Amino acid sequence: MSQQIDVGILGATGAVGQEFIVHLTSHPWFRLAWVAASPRSAGRRYVDATSWRLLTSCPDDVANMVIDTATPGQAPKVLFSGLDAKVAEEVEGEFAKAGHVVISNARNYRLEPDVPLLIPEVNADHLDLLRTQGVTRGWTGKIVTNPNCSTIILNMALGPLRQFGLRAVNVTTLQAVSGAGYPGLPALDIIGNVIPYIEDEEEKMETETKKILGFLEDGYVRSHPVQVSAHTTRIPVINGHTEMVSVGFNETPDVEALLKAFHDFSGRPQAEQLPSAPPKPLVYLTEPNRPQPRLDIDRDGGMAVTLGRLRPCNVLDYKFVVLGHNTIRGAAGAAVLNAELMQVDGLLE
Ligand code: NAP
Repeated sequence: MSQQIDVGILGATGAVGQEFIVHLTSHPWFRLAWVAASPRSAGRRYVDATSWRLLTSCPDDVANMVIDTATPGQAPKVLFSGLDAKVAEEVEGEFAKAGHVVISNARNYRLEPDVPLLIPEVNADHLDLLRTQGVTRGWTGKIVTNPNCSTIILNMALGPLRQFGLRAVNVTTLQAVSGAGYPGLPALDIIGNVIPYIEDEEEKMETETKKILGFLEDGYVRSHPVQVSAHTTRIPVINGHTEMVSVGFNETPDVEALLKAFHDFSGRPQAEQLPSAPPKPLVYLTEPNRPQPRLDIDRDGGMAVTLGRLRPCNVLDYKFVVLGHNTIRGAAGAAVLNAELMQVDGLLE
């Protein structure tokens, strides 16, 4: 691209917002020009208002940016949102109404019938919903969402299995503490412990999956018939959601066919060579004790999802393990990849 596009971040001070900063700072197409957060942070220098929690240091030029309020006015046209879900519906809606393109991590608009719930490798065609959105909402801007973090990681693995007539999915998650944002859970609650409950998480995995894998028909998405049952837990790992998945099919494929499907999986990001696209979105590891968060989450900058332990299941047909970086492939990196695909399709204009 001859000229970079100015972009901003809503919720720039949070766990996902910080990942956005890192992903956008050296981005070849986008230039970070604006950051916004709550009234608590507005008017302060970014470095003073933020509890920076990433291993890479905060870039100097961002550290000195003054945080704006999350209201349209000074913001560039294209915005990434890592807003708290309590405020995202109202704030993102205001920006879309004012003509901004909002690429959101928040849950609020994900299940709206005219809003794409996008994983570019799995359902790039769902961007077509934006045509309906323009008519139904009367917005001059638009909203595109990415799924919940554990749902993205699950659906990266399910995407290539759709071709076999996916019928049922049973998933148990082991989710990292960073998925709860900052400061998240008190140390005394999570160190040496497992919390067998994450509010609304199971419902998100069960409902969002049906939309993500659904079929675009007459301008809307018809839900995929797969039935999903999810158990979600929080464990004392900093980054990386691990998921134990069993899958059932209408007709059981052989194990070689499944391995080939994982191995060959590729989508528009790879075909278009988008800057954030991992060369291989799914990496199957053959060692019996992989994938592991400590060893595998950073593969291809945290954008590749790793799998392992594919074997027969006594209840459904097969079972396997899948792992992904929750704040990168499950949040900020996912949204940046969405924006790159939208740019290629002329949807950021
Ligand atoms: P977080 O660390 O709590 O950050 C929330 C952000 O929202 C902060 O920048 C905060 O600003 C801002 N905010 C709060 N109230 C606001 C208001 N009234 N007006 C404007 N901004 C306001 O949360 P997070 O973990 O980054 O998650 C952000 C969003 O992404 C959530 O919707 C979450 O569900 C979703 N998500 C998170 C993950 C993950 O792995 N963490 C993954 C996928 C999706 P202040 O600092 O000024 O309060």
